[in-house]
Amino acid sequence: MFKSLYIETPLYKSTPLSTLFGKTIFLKMENLQPSGSFKLRGISRLCQEEIAKGKKHLVSSSGGNAGFTAAYVGRLLSEKVTVFVPKSTPIFAINKIQSEGATVIVKGEVWDEAHHAALAFAKETDGAYIHPFDHPTIWSGYATMIAELTKQMDKPGAVVVSVGGGGLLCGVIEGLQKYGWSDVPVIGVETEGAASLAATIKAGKLVTLEKVNTIAVTLGTKAVTSKVLEWLPKHRIIPLTVSDKAAVHASRLFVDDHRMLVEPACGAALSVIYDKAEVLKKFDNIVVIVCGGIGISVDMLLEYENRLGVGAQHAAP
Ligand SMILES: *Cc1c(COP(=O)(O)O)cnc(C)c1O
Repeated sequence: MFKSLYIETPLYKSTPLSTLFGKTIFLKMENLQPSGSFKLRGISRLCQEEIAKGKKHLVSSSGGNAGFTAAYVGRLLSEKVTVFVPKSTPIFAINKIQSEGATVIVKGEVWDEAHHAALAFAKETDGAYIHPFDHPTIWSGYATMIAELTKQMDKPGAVVVSVGGGGLLCGVIEGLQKYGWSDVPVIGVETEGAASLAATIKAGKLVTLEKVNTIAVTLGTKAVTSKVLEWLPKHRIIPLTVSDKAAVHASRLFVDDHRMLVEPACGAALSVIYDKAEVLKKFDNIVVIVCGGIGISVDMLLEYENRLGVGAQHAAP
């Protein structure tokens, strides 16, 4: 029904990470999507669904990968795209979004404000609002990742994902449920300054953080989607919180181990392997979703390393 604008990504059996962790570690290489992250699987679907409904204009509210991906999809489908971004968005990211032909409007201090402005604009102009994480079509798009996995490997012991708004988490769970792997636990990794999933699971109800503060800006969402609460009684979700330093360090080690540059948001998920998280030790054949991200350059990574005092070495055993 829809054009597949995303690619089937490879699954690596990682020698460096398996050797380090002492169990087999698989990497689902979503960083290789042409828009730089897994977002393409969900957002390309939602955009096409809205266009099929007659919408002539796509509106996004993210200065990160969701906005960039909407811009990328708009260019492929020759649709007009407007992206509202908060003032905190680096000029680097704005330039990338504009390079895909989208109009960027800077609005609000934080994402929530850009989100409200984008919603209002979409309503006024009869455009389609493309939410960055909270939509069933986006989750179903992400579930295709698991459909691919079932062809690439036997049942994994656990799947590790980064969590911002929880869209990726919900999509992975939907896929695991749909393809007969409903007993495979999902490890949801956040950074300390944006741990809304951990807070929500602990409270047993949706928790909205007062503020977020993390280098992994892609994970900086005050609250996860309420869909997470629906999955909680039905699927095993293990929340893990890591430091910014651990996330940056993992991004750095990954450059050397696999020669690929990923955002600290992705480094967060990788860090639970690099730092040998205790709760993971009972699992084997662990899949890490390498979510990727365009919001990183060599200079930015070096600056983060300097700021946090991170070196290139693996931690002492
Ligand atoms: C969007 C994104 C996340 C977080 O995904 P959510 O669906 O918001 O939880 C993590 N990493 C990268 C690279 C992303 O683009």
